[in-house]
Amino acid sequence: MAAVILLGPPGVGKGTQGVLLADALGWERIVTGDLLRAARRAGTELGEKARAYMDAGELVPDELVVALVEERLAKTSGETGVIFDGFPRNVAQAGELEAALDRHDRRVDRVLLLEAPDNVLEKRLTGRRSCPECGAVYNVYFNPPEREDVCDRCGRDGLVQREDDRPETVRHRLQVYRGETEPLVRYYEEAEAEVIRIDGDRAVDEIQEDVQVAAVGEPIS
Ligand code: AMP
Repeated sequence: MAAVILLGPPGVGKGTQGVLLADALGWERIVTGDLLRAARRAGTELGEKARAYMDAGELVPDELVVALVEERLAKTSGETGVIFDGFPRNVAQAGELEAALDRHDRRVDRVLLLEAPDNVLEKRLTGRRSCPECGAVYNVYFNPPEREDVCDRCGRDGLVQREDDRPETVRHRLQVYRGETEPLVRYYEEAEAEVIRIDGDRAVDEIQEDVQVAAVGEPIS
């Protein structure tokens, strides 16, 4: 079954688009950031090892992330497509992914590259706040709650910012993206994978349409 990669800088909307795409197609998502955060919450050894890298906006060592992906991939149904979000993040991980997919009779069919200017990405990330109670997500610039710092949905007073969404860390994450992850565009182009560029600096539903067409080659009704 199909495997697509959502590639793009932090803050470009891979998470949002990945959920919409998975819902529309009934595909599964493999999101390494989420897997790592879950490992941290569960207090596993791997989660503990990953913590300092994540909070500093550095990449977690490949072997830890690859182990998580392999474990997750083994649980996928062979019947549905898979969307990778946040993985691979460098050329070594791309090689590991190819080998892992091969073992599951899959391959990378398409790479969807979401793009937006750095100033937009910085605002999206540094402005992001979430409710620790119900999980609702806001942005102080683009989608603020009605009352500052109070959740519209559940009334909780005190929204939180992800440690790695602080301004210095955000700038570092963007540098890491440009240095380590962006070279994957060339890598996949040279591997003759289909790389489809999508403007991520637009309304969610406009991007969604392009993402869906790019993923399956036609609009989904
Ligand atoms: P994300 O939610 O995708 O922005 O990921 C949050 C953090 O998790 C990143 O800044 C990295 O520290 C770590 N991370 C997520 N995916 C990977 C990956 N494929 N390789 C290394 N580190 C990762």
